[in-house]
Amino acid sequence: MLRIDDVSVRYGAEVALDGVSLEVPDGQVLAVLGPSGCGKSTLLRAVAGLEPLAGGRIFADGVDLRRTPTHRRGFALMFQDGQLFASKSVAGNIGYPLRLRRRAKATVAARVEELLDLVGLGGYGARRPETLSGGERQRVALARALAVEPRLLLLDEPLSALDAALRERLAVDLRRIITASGTTALMVTHDHEEAFALADRMALMRAGRVVQVGEPAQVWAHPVDVETALFLGYDRVVDGAATQVVLQAAGLAGAGAVALRRSALEVSPDGPLEGVVRASRAAPEVVRLVVETPALGEVSAVASTTEVAPGPGQRVRMRVIADRLAVVGDAATAGQVP
Ligand code: ADP
Repeated sequence: MLRIDDVSVRYGAEVALDGVSLEVPDGQVLAVLGPSGCGKSTLLRAVAGLEPLAGGRIFADGVDLRRTPTHRRGFALMFQDGQLFASKSVAGNIGYPLRLRRRAKATVAARVEELLDLVGLGGYGARRPETLSGGERQRVALARALAVEPRLLLLDEPLSALDAALRERLAVDLRRIITASGTTALMVTHDHEEAFALADRMALMRAGRVVQVGEPAQVWAHPVDVETALFLGYDRVVDGAATQVVLQAAGLAGAGAVALRRSALEVSPDGPLEGVVRASRAAPEVVRLVVETPALGEVSAVASTTEVAPGPGQRVRMRVIADRLAVVGDAATAGQVP
């Protein structure tokens, strides 16, 4: 549906997007993930037609959008903070884009009801935005964005203004709503959890370029390079001789660098690795440790909360949990690297 072909955008001498190519098939959600300043918002604005291209083309349903102004593209935008009209009711907000298009009153009312149900806010039509929770406001914003059945929904960090617990729940809701309405969406975010929760595919961006594209699980399991692994929340990347130590302990084969999640090493009496606990901190579900090991240096590890947690100075053995590590830059499996 959407094809971004070798697109570049410049701000004066600065190159904000550098030859970006991406595709979003009909009905799919693509998340563009990257650190602040990597060019995500610029990409979204370019697709929306709010940013002139220095090079490349953007196509929707096979049509070059070069001469199609923003309001004729049939895209909808949803922002971080929803940007609801404070002076309008929930129904007034959702129906706004329909009234702009001069749809009949009864049509608007019926569609608003349908959208309220879709986002799980049936009966909320008369409420004012300020009486809603942050999550409810974001669902109203989504309903408004979907009101005119946009052929593409552009989402700018749709969950990042919410607190962690709410973010997780709303992520599931958003995914369901977007899928149920068959909407094609392009989302940008710096939050890998948000990308994982919502996307069918994700693209990692850095310094204006796409460095990896793939399904979330695939990208997660095979980050293309060390920087990507750390950005995806891996705690530590080991290489050289340490790689073989970790892989053997996990019962895996491979070469190169290995990225470890914070919970990849777990205290276990018969584990193949040993070390001395340097620090120990109880978290709700596990005890988090810092362990000094001869083979790997200082590493994070976890211990079960059901046993007495090892304290500083204590010697421990640890096992390596295979699905909490990733071999980095394994080109054969690292997804498409443009
Ligand atoms: P992100 O959304 O990933 O944080 P942006 O797309 O906002 O990144 O910015 C990409 C780069 O372009 C950054 O270096 C930023 O400083 C620069 N930039 C963004 N907007 C402008 C602008 N209007 N004028 C000049 N530079 C800009």
